[in-house]
Amino acid sequence: MDEMYTLPIEIVEVSPRDGLQNEPTQISTNDKISLIEGAIEAGVRRIEVTSFVNPRAVPQMADADDVCARLPERGDVTYIGLVMNQRGADRALATGRIDQLGAVCVSTDTFAMANQGQTSDGSVQAAKSIIESAKSAGKTAQATIAASFGCPFEGEVAEDRVVAMAKELVKSGPVEIALADTIGVGNPAHVARLVSKVKDVIGSLPVRVHFHNTRGTGLANVWAAIGAGASSVDASIGGLGGCPFAPGAAGNVATEDVVYMLERAQIATGLDLNSLIQTNAWLGKIMQKELPAMVAKSGGFPVPSNQNKEVA
Ligand code: ZN
Repeated sequence: MDEMYTLPIEIVEVSPRDGLQNEPTQISTNDKISLIEGAIEAGVRRIEVTSFVNPRAVPQMADADDVCARLPERGDVTYIGLVMNQRGADRALATGRIDQLGAVCVSTDTFAMANQGQTSDGSVQAAKSIIESAKSAGKTAQATIAASFGCPFEGEVAEDRVVAMAKELVKSGPVEIALADTIGVGNPAHVARLVSKVKDVIGSLPVRVHFHNTRGTGLANVWAAIGAGASSVDASIGGLGGCPFAPGAAGNVATEDVVYMLERAQIATGLDLNSLIQTNAWLGKIMQKELPAMVAKSGGFPVPSNQNKEVA
């Protein structure tokens, strides 16, 4: 297990989608593009830029097409569009700017009904056809299993259920399987166990993880997931985030905090902490509030001597 802690980890920036979707203040398309540019500037090379959902359900994502039209032309950046159904997949592919579809299925029937109006099995079938559509269009797709560690409506989620879903999803040819702790109830032991069990059934496919810091276990869960072999981590600059359909969901793990922890532990992320902290400061002004991320408040470490403001 220890060798996992020496491999580089990819950070997938999700602030333009998960970070913003639950915010009551409508963020302008301009500001969303600035946020995406800030992430790229900091070194991010895969970004969830928007979701193609019903704008009445998620008004913050109503400008999905406009965001795509204005994405920086970068051959080295993978732009992800999150989609819940075939209609969303068609819209995302029609933009011509989305490199990768992110399909979402849900571990329980009650949450799947609330989130996308279908059963859990139905959500797996929908995700599989989304993955097929992406492949037919010459793009890639990955699938996220929402509420992998617990459901806001049904409570505990059986690990076997999540493992079975991963096994089924793989049949359609995704490039990755992600386990999402949508409501932030996971703990490191559960995370290590489930990442490991899922890895066992998906062959060589990579596992990505998605944690919300609702109960303060976000960073511990990231660490446990990496130890169990996860290779990509979703994170949101400033630690913004939430889910309109998951009561009580708080922000994603903050990109700055994850990068600080991993880089200090000699795990390469390719991201520049100071650049992320600057983007956090900018985003705080846009959102007109202090963001949940911790490291942006205190700065990195060691502090350059000319900036050392801490008094003994
Ligand atoms: Zn989320």
